[in-house]
Amino acid sequence: MQVFIVGAGPGDPELITVKGQRLLREADVIIYAGSLVNPDILKWAREDAEIYNSASMTLPEVIDKITESVNQNKMVVRLHTGDPAIYGAIQEQMDELKRRDIEFEVVPGVSSFLATAAALKQEYTLPDISQTVIITRNEGRTPVPDRESLRSLAAHQSTMCIFLSVHMLDDVVRELIAGGYAPTTPIAIVHKASWPEQKIVRATLETIVERVKGEDISRTAMIVVSNVLDTDYSLSRLYAPEFSHMFRKASE
Ligand code: SAH
Repeated sequence: MQVFIVGAGPGDPELITVKGQRLLREADVIIYAGSLVNPDILKWAREDAEIYNSASMTLPEVIDKITESVNQNKMVVRLHTGDPAIYGAIQEQMDELKRRDIEFEVVPGVSSFLATAAALKQEYTLPDISQTVIITRNEGRTPVPDRESLRSLAAHQSTMCIFLSVHMLDDVVRELIAGGYAPTTPIAIVHKASWPEQKIVRATLETIVERVKGEDISRTAMIVVSNVLDTDYSLSRLYAPEFSHMFRKASE
């Protein structure tokens, strides 16, 4: 195998997988998504590795670079932020590689919505509150199907992790309330989770817009809306003394 599509993780260079790090150390060619990948992670690269930032490349340029490298018998790592399966635009790259008969492997990564939970020290799935996590985004240049509008997803009142939308926060809040979330529902915004400049802002739907004004929060931020952020909840059955499961007998 010569081509690896690798999840770089959310920012902290130690949050790449062991396998991803090994591949980065071995790669002859690294093409990284420079708009989001923390360049610090390139410290794992060989000194003589060829490094390209795909932020300034088109899809055909990326694929041509991979093809050219494979033809020269070089090993290529295509590095994406977080996990490449989430808003990574990798499908079109993988489909083009398949068309060219270039084999590749995908190595998953820690997505930013999970680094966000870690930053918040929060479980997203609390009994009686929410057992579902919705990963979504507001519509931007990329259209979102109508049936997946924030307004309609809000009806479920599950934990929502909203990507790519912090610059449209007013709109997000309006849609969530219109969809059924109480204005007092807690919301958290985590800017650059796991980076040194990580910042957390907590508020409610009705106060968040005012609260983030002047905070200098850029696009690299996650919005989490959920009653799990502020709640009394039932204890999980997994650790309940009277509850037995495959690995533990119930106490008498
Ligand atoms: N594949 C990536 C997401 C790419 S889309 C992943 O799995 O995380 C880019 C969006 O991800 C940003 O707009 C932001 O909403 C979110 N994001 C990426 N890195 C982040 C981080 N360190 N902290 C918070 N949000 C982040």
